Amino acid sequence: LAAATNNEDFENYLITLNTQLVEVQGFLHESHSEQMVSGEAHKQLDERVRQDVTTISKAVKDSRDLGELKMSVSSQLAGIVRVMDDFKRGEEERDGRLQERYDALMLHVAEMEEETGRVKAHMEEERLKARTDALTGLPNRAAYDDHLDKEFERWARYQQGFSVAIGDLDFFKRINDTYGHLAGDKVLRLISRVLTKNLRGSDFVARFGGEEFVILMPSTQAEEGAKAIEKLRESISKSPFNFHGQPVTITMSFGVTETRQSDTKDALFDRADAALYKAKQEGRNRVCIG
Ligand code: GH3
Ligand code: MG
Ligand code: MG
Repeated sequence: LAAATNNEDFENYLITLNTQLVEVQGFLHESHSEQMVSGEAHKQLDERVRQDVTTISKAVKDSRDLGELKMSVSSQLAGIVRVMDDFKRGEEERDGRLQERYDALMLHVAEMEEETGRVKAHMEEERLKARTDALTGLPNRAAYDDHLDKEFERWARYQQGFSVAIGDLDFFKRINDTYGHLAGDKVLRLISRVLTKNLRGSDFVARFGGEEFVILMPSTQAEEGAKAIEKLRESISKSPFNFHGQPVTITMSFGVTETRQSDTKDALFDRADAALYKAKQEGRNRVCIG
């Protein structure tokens, strides 16, 4: 290029240069506001560019030859572009690593959520198993205890009394002795089905142990509860049990009672148990209120 005689050329060049420098500053400013980027890399870039810009400014100030100036500025700008390219690559790599870590983290969180779900389901399953009687599939004594606690709380809080019935198979030892233990087990399963089928959905029935069952009837008085249990008793005595082709009558005795003022769980149960004992004493296959 010719000597720096063309003022217009020089002016245009300085305007373009200025625009480029403004862009560089804009980029720096923008990058600075990006939180993910490390401050140190920015500081370095900032320093480098500042240095180069100072050098360019000095060259512009000292220059009397446009050709020389253009060459000097060009090489300086090329340096800036290189530094910025490096910086950008570094940024991209950092972003890439960050994204990878983020993705891995999200995957990990998703896996953990899934695992938590599995553990929860497993625990729920175990909890249910621990509260279920294996032979009959009915709630067991532990489940009954929990249910009684809840009913008792409701009673204390809302004065909603309830009834308890204890049922015990009559002469069950004889069934076992005559037809075998497996036949006895089968009877227990069949009886369980009759119990659940004949009770209301709001009632709760559990296998208390052996050939004893316990029934909770919410918001029910003893008279009313005894009527429902009476139907149940009749239904059991009419159930067709067959052993080796021979029909066998199975009966059950019940004791029923309702919550009373200043009752305790034990007192309530003992009353139902005493009523059951009475039913046995009076000849079995009957319902007594205690
Ligand atoms: P009662 O009318 O006075 O109740 O007479 P019972 O024979 O039913 O009463 P007892 O307490 O003498 O006998 C209960 C029987 O229940 C004895 C036991 O072998 C049987 N039994 C308890 N649990 C099971 C069980 O899980 N399976 C079987 N097959 N029998 C059981
Ligand atoms: Mg018994
Ligand atoms: Mg019995």
